[in-house]
Amino acid sequence: MPSSTCSQYKEVVIVGNGPSAISLSVFLSGYRPYYKGGTHSNEYLNEKLQKMNPKKSIVDQDLSFLAEGLEGRSPNPVALLLDALCRPDADLGVDNPSLLEWKFEKEHAIDHVVLGKGKAGGAWQNMDGSMQTLSFANWMELPSLSFKEWQNSHHRDESHAHNGRATVADVRRYYGDFVEERGLQPYFRDQYVVTSIQKKFYTNKDVDSESGEVEPCKCRYKNHGFLWEVRGYCYLGDSEGDREEFCYCTNNVVVATGTFDIPNKLGIHGENLPYVLHSLEEVEHVLSNKKKKKSQDPVVIVGAGLSAADAVIMALKMKRPVVHVFRRGANDSQLIFKKLPAAIYPEYHTIHSMMKGKTINPLYKPYPNHSLVELKEDNHVLIQTTSGGDILSLDAFYVAILIGACPDLSFLPHDGKNLGVIPRFPIDSKHNPIHVDPYSYQCVAETGLFSMGPLVGDNFVRFGLGGSLGITNHLLLTKNKQTQ
Ligand SMILES: Cc1cc2nc3c(=O)[nH]c(=O)nc-3n(C[C@H](O)[C@H](O)[C@H](O)COP(=O)(O)OP(=O)(O)OC[C@H]3O[C@@H](n4cnc5c(N)ncnc54)[C@H](O)[C@@H]3O)c2cc1C
Repeated sequence: MPSSTCSQYKEVVIVGNGPSAISLSVFLSGYRPYYKGGTHSNEYLNEKLQKMNPKKSIVDQDLSFLAEGLEGRSPNPVALLLDALCRPDADLGVDNPSLLEWKFEKEHAIDHVVLGKGKAGGAWQNMDGSMQTLSFANWMELPSLSFKEWQNSHHRDESHAHNGRATVADVRRYYGDFVEERGLQPYFRDQYVVTSIQKKFYTNKDVDSESGEVEPCKCRYKNHGFLWEVRGYCYLGDSEGDREEFCYCTNNVVVATGTFDIPNKLGIHGENLPYVLHSLEEVEHVLSNKKKKKSQDPVVIVGAGLSAADAVIMALKMKRPVVHVFRRGANDSQLIFKKLPAAIYPEYHTIHSMMKGKTINPLYKPYPNHSLVELKEDNHVLIQTTSGGDILSLDAFYVAILIGACPDLSFLPHDGKNLGVIPRFPIDSKHNPIHVDPYSYQCVAETGLFSMGPLVGDNFVRFGLGGSLGITNHLLLTKNKQTQ
């Protein structure tokens, strides 16, 4: 692989190119939100908005003051603030207009680059397009372009989504179009895989002001003893081997790589056999592969979350028999289906009803309170009740183990384990998110390293965007201090 001899300096390097990264890129490119007036139902926030200087962008305001006291479904106050301004009272099920207007102010642009393994859109590039979002369509939108506006201008109003939700295909298209329509392509590097982020201490040299090159990486500010060096490879063509190394140096790295890169495994014998799948993408691939359709054995789907439910829907749509194995009881109060109103999520409600045995489908057989114990080479699958009862043997067409995923942070020092709320343990969006300052999203353990999205506990797109406001606000404050 040809290696890069010198590195390119960028003020900000964003790793990952999903909705979190796209949102940060639009802020950094110079799009800025202004309070355009209007009343917020939260009296405390409303009072502060009235007192605020409206000529100053929200990015230039005191975020800790504005966000103080806000409550909602994010652990991060700035996420709640941005959401409250973009979608006032969204949790009450209303679609109130945004209190923000967006202005493009090129002079405020911050030089940056967005590095992503695949196409812009992140996790949404790998999901089955015919599925519907869990969230309402307007909760999927990015700053400055409403989903409705996009749908109207792209004639997507005939979309197959129901109950105010969107299809995954539309969300994916919206994210791709957003990058184009907001002129963000110059910042985006698709097919760029980051393999290492390291702190490099450089002294007494400067960046070449004409080329922007750093050879070797050098420090920009006298009071800053190190730069982050971001290395990896990018694909030059379609072939796997056709690739080149890259290296960027920066004072600010943002890790926005999401939490879906490594599927969780059961750790049982036979789990690596070729007929065992661990992602919806693989399930979709094998189910739609006509050559493999001959066997009438069922697809065995393991898990009781939404991905497992999506796989059941997919298989039944293709008239493939399904055996559904899940550890909990079908009436367990922790099941996600219990939290989804049937009127808005009819497809998940039907699956739940089948899991309970209330709705009968001749192609579907549930095994509640069961787990997989072994996978044999001849497609024989052994399952057992969770109480350790009799073992049942089934023939499987394929086995899909869909029991969640975790982030791949192997490119960070110590695999990122020093960054969590509970240090030395792997990062996990629910139990051990990356510990960041609540306003700047800077890692508590590392200066100049930031994170956003599910990695900091915001599992919904709507709240993941908060990081873009917090990080931009912090970068501007730091810049102002340095130029004073
Ligand atoms: C099946 C499913 C359904 C969902 N439905 C909803 C919904 O209805 N509503 C909602 O709000 N949220 C939903 N989510 C969650 C939503 O997808 C995430 O909140 C959102 O995508 C997070 O955005 P992100 O940009 O932080 O990360 P991601 O979208 O995960 O994007 C990160 C990208 O970074 C890439 N990356 C990782 N490592 C590297 C590396 N080393 N180098 C370069 N690139 C890298 C990843 O491959 C990925 O493409 C759903 C998730 C799933 C899996």
